[in-house]
Amino acid sequence: MSAREIDYLLIGGGQASALAAKKLRERTPDGSVLLVGREFDPPYERPPCSKGYLQGIFERDEAFILKPEWYSQQHVELMCRTTVTALDPDTRIAKLSTREEVHFGQALIATGANVHRLHVDGSELDGIHYLRTLPNADAIREDLADSEHVVVVGGSYIGCEVAASLARIGHAVTIVMQEHHPLERGFGEHAGGFFGDLLQSHGITLHGGDELERFEGDGRVAKVVTKGGLELPADVVVIGAGVTPEVRLAKAAGLEIGERGGIRTNSKLQSSVPGIYAAGDVCEYDSVIHGHPLRLEHWDVACAQGETAARNMLGDDVDHDTVPYFFSDIADWASLEYVGPAYDWDREVLRGSFVAGDFTIWYLRERRVLGALTVGRSDELDIARRLLRERTVLDDAQLARLGDRNAEITMIG
Ligand SMILES: Cc1cc2nc3c(=O)[nH]c(=O)nc-3n(C[C@H](O)[C@H](O)[C@H](O)COP(=O)(O)OP(=O)(O)OC[C@H]3O[C@@H](n4cnc5c(N)ncnc54)[C@H](O)[C@@H]3O)c2cc1C
Repeated sequence: MSAREIDYLLIGGGQASALAAKKLRERTPDGSVLLVGREFDPPYERPPCSKGYLQGIFERDEAFILKPEWYSQQHVELMCRTTVTALDPDTRIAKLSTREEVHFGQALIATGANVHRLHVDGSELDGIHYLRTLPNADAIREDLADSEHVVVVGGSYIGCEVAASLARIGHAVTIVMQEHHPLERGFGEHAGGFFGDLLQSHGITLHGGDELERFEGDGRVAKVVTKGGLELPADVVVIGAGVTPEVRLAKAAGLEIGERGGIRTNSKLQSSVPGIYAAGDVCEYDSVIHGHPLRLEHWDVACAQGETAARNMLGDDVDHDTVPYFFSDIADWASLEYVGPAYDWDREVLRGSFVAGDFTIWYLRERRVLGALTVGRSDELDIARRLLRERTVLDDAQLARLGDRNAEITMIG
């Protein structure tokens, strides 16, 4: 079978690929575009999987990033349930699971990430779930029907969102996590304390500073046993233990992989092979804003990177220079927003009040803002973006203003 010609091959049927396809078609009707994704559904938003869709208040087709008919209307060929099995960067031929071969002009690898699985005794029992896809959310919902006790393993945002969603629809939920407070790893113990109190105030039981030892049950999970000696009844378990970038295709093709496990790209999202780009969860790019490589698992980053990659495929030659943004909804109890990412900060400045659930935490190192987390004060994120971009060193008076909820801060810096 001879390889057919495609100008733009988009590998991975998720957020980044869909936004790349959209950007390509916004800019030009020319050039053939093929989007290949291994899932059953056309590209969809993952955030509802742990929020409204899991609660049953958000319809499946509302999650589709583009209407299914958009692809044919825009002459974008969409192949679902198809995997790209091999990529030859020299001949520019991609092999598909359909046995077809595609000769491409340029390619985007946006293969996302896979959940990190915990292999402990009993992990094969029924009732134990991970959450990455719409079908995963369907399986959790089906399993919940007769359940009394849900245990969520992991205190990251997936764990917190799932726990909140399931508690909101009436389930008894317990979280077991290594951290002392939920969300502490990304946002520190003060923010973690706030989110912990919030979850507990809605009836969720938290066991921090502990770890999963094993599952027990006869065919189906009945108990979660922790290293700290807890024995928690459970008929449904959801594990949120992080993800690993899906780099198998890129690795086999000889593309450079970075220290954070993603496909290493330059600031324009081009991989070590000219004409092959990466975007989204799988992409480890040189951030011109941060001055070091970054790999992030944020919805907004995947969207923005899909667009940057498409622009560069069209010859724009631009850096990916958007300040990374993240959001998370803890049921309808609180929405957090964040720009950063901040690591190794030496100071946190709080503006507003945890008690009122209306605050921003500024994360600083050597008086420079590295990031900001907010609940209820979205407009302050623009200031954080600017301070982060400009790497402004703040003096004592400016720091005091950042922390004073009544002080004007738009002029800082
Ligand atoms: C439950 C859940 C909730 C989330 N909530 C939030 C949130 O509130 N806020 C936020 O900022 N972020 C959130 N995220 C993260 C966000 O959704 C991801 O960062 C984003 O989806 C990444 O997009 P992507 O295109 O890089 O990868 P994905 O969306 O994972 O898409 C990659 C696709 O490529 C496919 N694929 C892999 N290999 C191949 C291959 N060889 N051939 C063909 N197809 C392949 C995969 O099956 C997958 O469908 C959430 C994620 C999950 C799972």
